[in-house]
Amino acid sequence: MNQTITALAMSISTTLAADFRPIPQRLGLIGAIFRELGRSARATLGRQPRRERAALDFVRAEAVEGDAESVLCALDRFAREQRFMMNLGDDKGRVLDALVAQLPLNAHVLELGTYCGYSAVRMARLLRGGGQVVSIEANRRHARIAQAICQFAGVEDQVRILVGESGTIIPTLTGPFDLVLMDHNKDEYLVDLWRIEDKGLLEPGSKIVADNVGPLFDAREYLKYVRTNPYNPYRSHYVESRLEYYEAHPDGMEISVRLSAGQGDSPSLGTG
Ligand code: CA
Repeated sequence: MNQTITALAMSISTTLAADFRPIPQRLGLIGAIFRELGRSARATLGRQPRRERAALDFVRAEAVEGDAESVLCALDRFAREQRFMMNLGDDKGRVLDALVAQLPLNAHVLELGTYCGYSAVRMARLLRGGGQVVSIEANRRHARIAQAICQFAGVEDQVRILVGESGTIIPTLTGPFDLVLMDHNKDEYLVDLWRIEDKGLLEPGSKIVADNVGPLFDAREYLKYVRTNPYNPYRSHYVESRLEYYEAHPDGMEISVRLSAGQGDSPSLGTG
C-alpha cells in the first residue's frame, strides 16, 4: 500500500473516532478510500506506471511546456479524474497564491515535502525577481518526478529540490526564509519548526503555512505551539478549506506569522 493510500486509510480511524462527524460524511470518506484502493489495484493489474510517473506522463501529454498554469491544471485534473495525489490542490492552492503574491522581490521560500512538485510550481510561478523555492523531499523517486515537472513547467531555475530527511537538511540551510510551507510527514511539523527556529531561519514577518491541520489529522500539539508559546511568538490563524480533490471533507491550513520578541502577548487568532 503506497504512502498516499496509507495516509487516506489512516484517516479512517480518525474519522470513525470523530463522534461529531455526521455519518454520511464518514461513509463518504471511507467510500473515497475504497475507490482509491480499487483504482490502485486496477492500475497494478493493468501494469500501469505508478501514480506519480503516470501524473508526469499526463502532464507531458496534456499541458503546455513552459506554461506553469497548464501544468497545475493538468495535475489537478489527473488527481480528480484518474488517481488521487496528495498535492496541495487548487482550493488550498489559492490561499497559498495570495500569500506568495504578497512576498517581496527576491523572496526565499522553504517547502518541506516536495512530493511531485505541485506546490513548488505553484509558488515559483508567482515569485518575482530572483525569488527561490528550496524544497525538501525524502523520497528520491518523488524528487525525480518533481524535478521533471518543474522543468516541464519552466520553473526549474527557481526551484531547488534537496533530497533527504528534513531533520538532516534543515540544519544545513541558510536563511532567513520569507515563507515556509509545511506539507510533509504530519508528525514532523512541530519538531521541524523547532529545528527551523534553532537554525535562525525565520525573521519577524516570516510566514509558516502548515497544510492538513484540519479535523482529519491530529495537529493539536503543533497548533498549540504556534498559537500559545510565549518564547518564539507567532500571530496564528486557521483557514478552513477542503481536503484536496475530496471537497466533501473539511481540511485546513494554519498560517502563522513570526513576531519579534516582545510581541508574544498578541492574542492568537486561532479558531480551528
Ligand atoms: Ca498536503
